[in-house]
Amino acid sequence: MKNKILVANWKMNLSPDEEISLLKEVANLFKNNKKNIPDLEIIICPSFLALKQAKEVIKELPNFHLGAQNCFWEDKGAYTGEISPLYLKQIGIEFIILGHSERRTYLGEANEMINKKVRACLKNDLCPIICVGETFEEQQEGKRDYTIMHQTSTALEGLQVDESKRILIAYEPVWVIGRGKAVEPEQAEYANRVIQQTAIDCLPLDFVKQKMSFLYGGSIDEENVVSFKEQKTIDGFLVGGASLNPKEFFGIVLKM
Ligand code: PEP
Repeated sequence: MKNKILVANWKMNLSPDEEISLLKEVANLFKNNKKNIPDLEIIICPSFLALKQAKEVIKELPNFHLGAQNCFWEDKGAYTGEISPLYLKQIGIEFIILGHSERRTYLGEANEMINKKVRACLKNDLCPIICVGETFEEQQEGKRDYTIMHQTSTALEGLQVDESKRILIAYEPVWVIGRGKAVEPEQAEYANRVIQQTAIDCLPLDFVKQKMSFLYGGSIDEENVVSFKEQKTIDGFLVGGASLNPKEFFGIVLKM
C-alpha cells in the first residue's frame, strides 16, 4: 500500500524568514494534534534560501520531508545561477519539483530539459515530482490527453530505474492553478489514469505500481479535497495557495 502524499509548493511567495515562521506554525499544529493526523508523507517545498533552516525545523517531525522547487541537470560546473542536485542532496533534500507550469511558461523549460533533470535527480537519489498538465487553449482544443501523454513520456524517456528509486507525477491543469476552482474530481482521475498508463508504456510495470505515485494539483483546499481523495488513482495532492495558510493546510491534512 502506497503512502498518501501532500506536497506544499510555496513558490516565491514569502521571504525566507516568513517561510520559517510558517513552517514553525505548521509544525506546532502537528505537534499539538498528533492523535488526529492520518498517516501521510508531507513534502514542504520552500524557496532555496530557506531549505537549510527548514531542515532544522522539521527534524522532529517524522512524516515531514523537504523538496526544492527546481534543480539543474548537471552536478557541478560553469552554470551560473543554477542549483546542483548533488548539493541539494547533500543538505538533506529528498524531493525536487520539476516542470512546474510556471517554469514552463516563464522560463521556457522544455520537455527535453525536464527529462535531463529527472535523470539527474534519479542519479543523485532524489525523488522527482514531475508536473504535467494542459493549458486552457489545449483543453479547449481537445488536446489534453495528447499534452499530458507527451509531457509524461518525454519526462520518463530512457530512464534507468530500480527499486531504490521513486518518481511522483502531479497532474496540474494549468488553467486551474491558483484560480480557486479545481477541475471536477472525475476529470482529474481520468487524467491520472492516462498519465499512469503512459508511465506503464515507458517503465517496468512493477516500478510504476510500487514506486510511482500520482498526484493532483490545482486549487485544492480544505473543502474540495475530500471529493478528490475518493478517486482511485489519486495518491495525494500538490497544493500551492492553500499551503500558505497554516490552518487551511492543516485542515487539508486532517481530511486526507
Ligand atoms: C501549483 O502551483 O502547483 C498549485 C497547485 O497551486 P494552487 O494550489 O494554488 O492552485
